[in-house]
Amino acid sequence: MAVIGKLPPHLADMIAAGEVVERPANVIKELLENAFDADAQFVTVEIEKGGVTLMRVSDDGCGMEPADMVMAFERHATSKIHQTEDLEAIVTMGFRGEALAAVAAVSRVTMTSRRADDAMGHEVSVQASALLSQHSVGGPQGTTVVVRDLFFNTPARYKFLKKDATEAGYIQSMVMRAALSRPDVSVRFVKDGQQVFQTPGDSDLRSAIYCLYGRELLAGMLPVSNEYEGMSVTGFTGQPSLARGNRALEIFVVNGRPVGSKTLMAALEEAYAKMLLTGRYPISVLHLDMDPSLYDINVHPAKAEIKFARERQVFEAVYMAVRNALQQGDAVVRPTLAVAEPTPAPTETLTMRQPELQLVQSRPVVAPPPVMAPPPIARPATPPQQSMPIELPQQVELPQDEPWRVVGEVLGGYILIEQGQQLLLLDKHAAHERLLYERWAASQPAQMAQQLLAPLVVRMAPDQQALLLQHSDLLEQAGFELDDYGDGALLLRAVPHDLDADDAGALLDELAHEWRSGRRGATLRTRDELLKMVSCKAAIKIGKRSSRQEIEALAQTVMTTPTLRHCPHGRPLLVSLSRKEVEKLFLRQ
Ligand code: ADP
Ligand code: MG
Repeated sequence: MAVIGKLPPHLADMIAAGEVVERPANVIKELLENAFDADAQFVTVEIEKGGVTLMRVSDDGCGMEPADMVMAFERHATSKIHQTEDLEAIVTMGFRGEALAAVAAVSRVTMTSRRADDAMGHEVSVQASALLSQHSVGGPQGTTVVVRDLFFNTPARYKFLKKDATEAGYIQSMVMRAALSRPDVSVRFVKDGQQVFQTPGDSDLRSAIYCLYGRELLAGMLPVSNEYEGMSVTGFTGQPSLARGNRALEIFVVNGRPVGSKTLMAALEEAYAKMLLTGRYPISVLHLDMDPSLYDINVHPAKAEIKFARERQVFEAVYMAVRNALQQGDAVVRPTLAVAEPTPAPTETLTMRQPELQLVQSRPVVAPPPVMAPPPIARPATPPQQSMPIELPQQVELPQDEPWRVVGEVLGGYILIEQGQQLLLLDKHAAHERLLYERWAASQPAQMAQQLLAPLVVRMAPDQQALLLQHSDLLEQAGFELDDYGDGALLLRAVPHDLDADDAGALLDELAHEWRSGRRGATLRTRDELLKMVSCKAAIKIGKRSSRQEIEALAQTVMTTPTLRHCPHGRPLLVSLSRKEVEKLFLRQ
């Protein structure tokens, strides 16, 4: 006799519900996500008694037609995914089509919805997966879902709920995270008849933070804004003095979705290394925007964990963005030489750290010294590997008054310096970039502009030209003087000194492109942001050999100025390799 049978659908739903719906906060999360997916501008979340007796989420989104409302409670019923390719580019919050079915399996749900063009709305009631009733009703555009008596039919799960106040706390932090992830939506939270907060929905993350955390915390938050390898990291991060005893206010949002991620946490905390005592955690709201095909959100039933395809780049993007913000915000790190741990390729991490293991590797070649491992840019720290402890970077003091000498330029862009018992590698491009930036930032706009003997005609798309002209005041602040030359052309009269006039055209073109595409949204709108961009363009290119005098002068400036330790984007300028580390690599220890 066959012993394997198919589960009846309502049992399957109840089991699935266990994965998605563990507590009221999960229900709220799913309902909020549905409201966001429906393009709501206003969402209200109301709860009673920790959400167990009642949860109501109303939105002013697109609404549903009656037949779809019934369908929506079926498992795997979704309007968001139709083919496998869609899974690669998920932009909506929901996509598995199981949330409503899961919630309805373990509660009594009433959903009311009306689309903008329909005269009447519709109401559907479902209890423990069974359709109880449906009928037309009047009502505002949008959708309201009311969930009552959660877990009324699953006593075992009901028993695991905590006190109402605790469940309400979970819900509140869930709603806060959602509100911080979508500053463009007004989110109102009402608890036991009392409004707790309502964010303005004015698209300004600052307003949402102000509304949720208050004036004082907002005043201590530093703006974060950085572009790196096609990712943008924006938001706010707290001064070290605002640190807290837990991670509850480390908030990460990837393409509008609040997520948990060890990589992101490690990168954030790493950026604060040495600024916070052990057991203290920063306050931060960071928005990452990137190509959706570069991560997988489908690894966790409630989509709360994210897996990145390029962990290292993500780590670096966040680390540098935050580091940069902290440096700009005067919370400057000790003027020591922050040195990266050796940066092996991920799979080599273990062998690098334990040289004796290399002998049993099939590859006969002993790995090269880690700091020289590709890619050549010194990494601030190694992102955590799965199930491996995070390697923290070592802070090494640059010995005071210890003589040093430039050995030469190596690998087409790094200056090798020997000082006492250590070797230093100085990133030529990054160092030059930082120097130019410092010099320009300290000078008046008129001083940094260099008049061209013969004005230069630069041609580009007419809309780009118009954008540049529109921002000519801002550009003047950064040393560019330009005039309309008609027909998609500009007349360039002055460029920042040290910037090759031939590079200026390409830079302006790129800038206009960024402005037009809106990719850099908030960035590249201030003199400071422009100076960073210009200094990067104007700095000596990697791969271009420099004269002995040039590299000596650069090394001299960096070695004698303890504040010059990072490029304007936060990458380190110097890394070191001690005699001990060298000896270890040669198995002399
Ligand atoms: P998913 O969000 O994964 O598609 P759900 O079970 O959460 O699955 O919802 C099923 C479907 O019901 C959605 O795809 C959507 O079409 C519809 N829906 C749910 N909530 C709303 C809402 N608030 N407004 C408009 N449509 C909704
Ligand atoms: Mg959903």
